Amino acid sequence: TIGILALDAEGNLSGACTTSGMAFKMRGRVGDSPIIGAGLYVDNEVGGATATGVGEEVIRTVGSFLVVELMRQGRSPQDACKEAVERIIEKKPDTAKQIQVGFLALNKNGEYGAFSLQKGFSYAVCDGQKQDLLLPGASVY
Ligand code: ASP
Repeated sequence: TIGILALDAEGNLSGACTTSGMAFKMRGRVGDSPIIGAGLYVDNEVGGATATGVGEEVIRTVGSFLVVELMRQGRSPQDACKEAVERIIEKKPDTAKQIQVGFLALNKNGEYGAFSLQKGFSYAVCDGQKQDLLLPGASVY
């Protein structure tokens, strides 16, 4: 999945995502990316979030919506992403080590963060003033 979150000069948030789906998927499978709240969610009052990885786990936890709701409660983008990843571990403690799920989030103040189950999830930031940055996301494993 490629997920994009943006905050414009007037403070409006937007987001988009695209996906390749999963290898060897069942015919007719719908992943998390086309489901608002799962692979992508933006609330212009709060922030936006997007997900990558095993879509079934993201759907099960309504992951992107969860990240935005946690930011609404005052959590930082990275903290909110971490909590969403931890929910997935709680639901599937035995398989969490074998799968990848990552979240990226941006809030209304322009703060951003990411968190994934496995290391190696990086993201790019372009903020108009600084150069583009490629940042490693924090991870559990
Ligand atoms: N999240 C996608 C899916 O489950 C896979 C991906 O990360 O591209 O369909």
